[in-house]
Amino acid sequence: MPEGDSLHRAARALQVLAGQNVEVETPHPRAAVKRIAERLDGLRLESVEARGKNLLLRFEGGIVLRSHLRMSGRWRVEPRGAPRRGLPWLVLRGAEHEAVLWNGPVLELGVPERLGPDILADPPDLEAMLERLRAALPTREVGDALVDQRLVSGIGNVWKAESLWEARVSPWRPLVEVSDEELAAVLAAAHRLMAASLAGERPLRNVYRRVGRPCRRCGGTIRSYPQGESARIAYWCPGCQRGGREPNDRNLV
Ligand SMILES: [Zn+2]
Repeated sequence: MPEGDSLHRAARALQVLAGQNVEVETPHPRAAVKRIAERLDGLRLESVEARGKNLLLRFEGGIVLRSHLRMSGRWRVEPRGAPRRGLPWLVLRGAEHEAVLWNGPVLELGVPERLGPDILADPPDLEAMLERLRAALPTREVGDALVDQRLVSGIGNVWKAESLWEARVSPWRPLVEVSDEELAAVLAAAHRLMAASLAGERPLRNVYRRVGRPCRRCGGTIRSYPQGESARIAYWCPGCQRGGREPNDRNLV
């Protein structure tokens, strides 16, 4: 079963094609109907990245191909023209190598990604970020929304956890229950911490990877649990970041 590490291995193997203009074929009929080859053939493959359970292949012009392997899919990188039997879903052929996707059940072409306002802009456009967060699904958990790059770009898992702690907001609260003032405080904290980190300071981590240790503010025990579609780990203090639908103790990790 493809797990995170096999996806990372595939992403590494596919790096041999990065920077090349690739010939693209979709021999399997179920892949051919998606008209991916027509869109991508001859384009430059700019980068390959494992994100969550997806492999993201970025092509020139901002086109992104998403491959999710589910249980059966696998990527192979072989010398160009290596013999094979059967019909792979996708072949990306470079000058010396070709990457072949077998049984890739999920293959989607994305339009250029629309990124949200940059958290590291100086000053950050908090109002534009609030506007995007308010346009998102109101039931969406704030911790999940903060790492959605279409809403706010630049916040990763570490600073999501730390900025929510700074503002005393639980990652599990739905957006509808978080006030504009609280959201602005979280975003301002994220900007401040990330700018400091970028400047070479090492801001003290209060929750990230501190599971089971006491909160420096209230003494509560720091917890962690996977959050959102990509199941990235959220860290929080149940003592001073209350509310929302916290995962129950049985699921404690
Ligand atoms: Zn606390």
